[in-house]
Amino acid sequence: MTRPFNFSAGPATLPESVLQQAAAEMLDWHGSGMGVMEMSHRGRHFGEILAQAQRDIRDVLAVPEDFDILFLQGGGSGENAIVPMNLCGGGQLVPNIDVIVTGAWSKKSAQEASKYASVNIAYNGAEQRFTTVAPAASWQLSNDPTYVHICSNETIHGVEFQELPDLKAMGCDAPLVVDCSSHIASRPMAWDRIGVAYAGAQKNIGPAGLTLVFVRKDLQDRALDICPSAFHFGQQAANDSMLNTPPTYGIYMAGLVFQWIKAQGGLAAIEAANVAKARALYAAIDASPLYTNPVDAAWRSRMNVPFILRDEALNAPFLQGAEAAGLMALKGHKSVGGMRASLYNAMPLAGVHALIAYMTTFAAEHA
Ligand SMILES: *Cc1c(COP(=O)(O)O)cnc(C)c1O
Repeated sequence: MTRPFNFSAGPATLPESVLQQAAAEMLDWHGSGMGVMEMSHRGRHFGEILAQAQRDIRDVLAVPEDFDILFLQGGGSGENAIVPMNLCGGGQLVPNIDVIVTGAWSKKSAQEASKYASVNIAYNGAEQRFTTVAPAASWQLSNDPTYVHICSNETIHGVEFQELPDLKAMGCDAPLVVDCSSHIASRPMAWDRIGVAYAGAQKNIGPAGLTLVFVRKDLQDRALDICPSAFHFGQQAANDSMLNTPPTYGIYMAGLVFQWIKAQGGLAAIEAANVAKARALYAAIDASPLYTNPVDAAWRSRMNVPFILRDEALNAPFLQGAEAAGLMALKGHKSVGGMRASLYNAMPLAGVHALIAYMTTFAAEHA
């Protein structure tokens, strides 16, 4: 069977060798006589899977010891509520969250957080239609915010921070909260600038249902009383993410994906591959009169590449021809229109080359 190239924004393509290994182990994990889905999360076998996944994630992402890695549920959207519930009980009379709105996802985070705290939109890229982000020095941060939230890769608008803001250097001591759902494990993370980082698994690291949350240890004791125990950073950290049943199969799959990353040469090799893929696709878009990407070159996402066809009437034939050529899920998000090619870690360079070849032929046919 040859699999088509899947450009879905999420859930998204996974490394084929990982899927094959999971298939081979489906009925019997390492001679245990059980599949991973059937095992007790408290048993010896799953204990090994969890510990290995944790070690591999810490290794690959170079997560420092003063961070705990939590395996939670609720997705990126859940974290939009879970984070304020965990950070807003620190004693401030009126918790105040600064949000940097750079696209659809950070906008949603701001809306959700406003249920728990007063929210200051310290920057809003809406006026530039989320095609760029103003320098951090121009953001209108509050005096003493409870935390500052960014989405480091805007999956819908295709806007990515190439570098995280350095709040300390800006005279702000608040922790930085980073929604890195759609580019986690695609590039190194500047841990010294981060307080909390979270990512739904279904973009770059496994099946939907698992959320990875990285929480600095000093930020685990400031939860609101209403915070559910299953979402309480400190309680979950103290219980190795096993206060309740964790998403066991998702953890297993994430573990396989991080082993795959190691086998590719680690994060540096993955990042180099991602740079090559994105560079090739943006160059093809920029060279063509038919396609445009509106994002400021300095803010273009390596992971999610939206592009518009000059004539909207060509959208349907473009998608139809793409599917026939084995290039799936290229339809853009409805709020942006046009197309979107998501180039997550598991998308091979060959997939990007096939997409570019198809785009070139289609453009010639519709010149
Ligand atoms: C996909 C995504 C989410 C939402 O994830 P859910 O699992 O659907 O809640 C949040 N933030 C970003 C940046 C995303 O890409």
